[in-house]
Amino acid sequence: MYVLVINAGSSSLKYQLLNMKDESVLAKGLCERIGIDGRLVHETEKGKHSADTAMPDHAAAMAIVIDSLLDANHGVIKSKDEIKAIGHRVVHGGEAFAASVKITDEVEAAIEAVSDLAPLHNPPNLTGIRACKKHMPGVPQVAVFDTAFHQTMPEKAYLYAIDYALYEKHKIRRYGFHGTSHKYVSERAAALLNRPASGLKLVTCHLGNGVSLCAVDGGISVDTSMGMTPLEGLAMGTRCGDIDPAVVQFIMEKECISAQQAGDLLNKKSGVLGISGVSSDFRDLSSAANDGNPRASAAMDVFAYRVAGYIGRYAACMNGLDAIIFTAGIGENDCGIRDKVCAYLSWFGVELDPAKNAKRGEALDISTPGAKVRVLVVPTNEELVIARDTKTVLSL
Ligand code: AMP
Repeated sequence: MYVLVINAGSSSLKYQLLNMKDESVLAKGLCERIGIDGRLVHETEKGKHSADTAMPDHAAAMAIVIDSLLDANHGVIKSKDEIKAIGHRVVHGGEAFAASVKITDEVEAAIEAVSDLAPLHNPPNLTGIRACKKHMPGVPQVAVFDTAFHQTMPEKAYLYAIDYALYEKHKIRRYGFHGTSHKYVSERAAALLNRPASGLKLVTCHLGNGVSLCAVDGGISVDTSMGMTPLEGLAMGTRCGDIDPAVVQFIMEKECISAQQAGDLLNKKSGVLGISGVSSDFRDLSSAANDGNPRASAAMDVFAYRVAGYIGRYAACMNGLDAIIFTAGIGENDCGIRDKVCAYLSWFGVELDPAKNAKRGEALDISTPGAKVRVLVVPTNEELVIARDTKTVLSL
């Protein structure tokens, strides 16, 4: 039984076709530069196929995805009827969605209704849903929300200390993101530790281009570092994370910029890119730091210091800590950052095994045998969570 997973962005559409019998990936790919010109990269076990091809909108990109899946040379299916369901990543579910749901007209309207909480993400997610509806009418679709896993957060973790009327009127509160990733790695970690998730206190660290930490107590999210939007929390590739809110007004006045420009500055030109002036990519930062660039070193120091600080905070919030899980691009690959973060946490009983920390690409406990708090690297797999949820919601 084949499930198609779609992650539609403003000018891109990522896809994966999974065989849910054994959860293998039959094909995956990316349509880029939608609405500009159009570029496709399509991968199967037969190899990689790339093409520059016109994609005026998401519906056109979706048609190209289907053609690629059916193609005589690089295709993997004979008829689109073989696709039994489609699972979509939807970034913001607001308070309306605490779990994945089958997409109906009402669900589409509800996703639209919370779009002002994620104006850059929800509209393209909806466009992807509508493009699939157009090309595969009758195929059931499921929405899997980045925010849903965090709907278990208690009020004390999700309320901002602002006028309560603003929460009631505009739903201004903390929601959190990367929920599918935090859910997946926390469940995998429990399995690797051979302990029931219900008895574990974990901090999952999704360190990628976007960065968020989650306190997972007894298998549920009790706190997370991103807020109403993915701008809050840790220092990220280009996002500032936690900042004195007064800085926003100050920058606007000093630099004579609009609210929109200030938002762009904090989302796209800040984080480790802003501090270093070098790059948002940790591979570039490490090489610049190794070449003696002090701002690249400072950016990496700020990054690691904040991650360690949040881990300490969550250990206090949960009144305990069994394991720390590293995942995503930086968390899975950058042993130097893992080492820097864990060096702050020896007091908690964290101790890395350097040889294990140097390994890459596999799920692994990288702490010393006697360490009180385990440290694990678990590669994330958000597409698999979306496909699994799609199957479960539709009882396939
Ligand atoms: P993600 O958002 O999970 O795809 O992560 C992307 C980020 O991971 C990149 O911007 C890099 O900063 C980082 N990254 C990817 N590969 C490596 C690597 N081998 N070493 C260090 N950082 C990496």
